[in-house]
Amino acid sequence: MAIKGFAMLGIGSVGVIEKDYLEEVTTGKRLECGPLDAIVKPIAVATCTSDLHTCYEGGIGDRKNMFLGHEAVGEIIEVGEHVYDFKVGDKVIVPAITPDWNSINAQRGFAQHSGGPLSGWKFSNFKDGVFAEKFHVNDADGNLALLPNNVDPVDAVMLCDMVTTGFHCAESADIKIGETVAVIGLGPVGLMACAGANLMGASEIYAVDCIDFRYEVAHKHYGATHFVNFKKGKFQDQINELTNGRGVDKILIAAGTVQTIGDACECLINGGIISNINYLGTGDTITIPRLAWDVGMGHKTITGGLTPGGRYELEKLTRLLQTNKLNVKPLITHRLKGNFETVAQSLALMKNKPEGLIKPAVELEW
Ligand SMILES: [Zn+2]
Repeated sequence: MAIKGFAMLGIGSVGVIEKDYLEEVTTGKRLECGPLDAIVKPIAVATCTSDLHTCYEGGIGDRKNMFLGHEAVGEIIEVGEHVYDFKVGDKVIVPAITPDWNSINAQRGFAQHSGGPLSGWKFSNFKDGVFAEKFHVNDADGNLALLPNNVDPVDAVMLCDMVTTGFHCAESADIKIGETVAVIGLGPVGLMACAGANLMGASEIYAVDCIDFRYEVAHKHYGATHFVNFKKGKFQDQINELTNGRGVDKILIAAGTVQTIGDACECLINGGIISNINYLGTGDTITIPRLAWDVGMGHKTITGGLTPGGRYELEKLTRLLQTNKLNVKPLITHRLKGNFETVAQSLALMKNKPEGLIKPAVELEW
């Protein structure tokens, strides 16, 4: 039976289509429910800036008729014979990153690169994504997390990518209680980087953006203490001025260009860490200014990486929702209900960026 979904048809072109089977789009390999796998039907999904990069900027190269999406909560409709912890009918949160947990890189602690750089990112990258009547999850025991009864599925969708990615940015910066932090970019991932820094005990949080209401959300809900509007001057100059020339201990980059990392070096204290989670889809070279990097002698660390994904990570984050230590509702400015045409509208919303938008999500009506 044909599978309906919202797909990338080629660079610059999207639409609702039907396919005969799910596939690994780069190889054409048909995806069936293997012994360790599960097939899931989505209940709630969210469109992501990555979907825009993929469709409209060719961020991962061309793809033909690939179902989009990597953020979903769903219900298991088929399960492999060697999946022990999940059964048909279970409601599950599906991470955007679904590594192969038996790989050597997973054993090294870098599961997100389980089959080569970034290859834990499978959905809507090299296999059909989650905006379809059903989708394929590899390594179900290692990758799925049960959706608790008292957690709203639309809230839970924020865990798949936004929360885990933002928190990974904060954790990669190894924030200590009382440290000062700058967060560059207050989109949904930047807001979650801010929330992560706040949960880890940051004192002052300098939030860099150009939209007042995003700062209001960051301040009211996620611990931001100072607004740095980059339209009013270089963010690094403003941070240096606000901190009397000291700079900050940690800088979390969730937006910007290939130049942002170098700029951040200019307001980072010696011994500080810059943690980048921004996908740099364009540009050839990242330039680090010699003097701001203290002629190579400054102990200014630059790190960054794809969020780990997987079940353990998602279960941890789910507990934060259950204990009300984290409230993701302020992120979800547009809650839609409908079908795959509605998912298309959600992506169009992200493309057109109406005032007041942070993140749309879609509850699917079957
Ligand atoms: Zn995403």
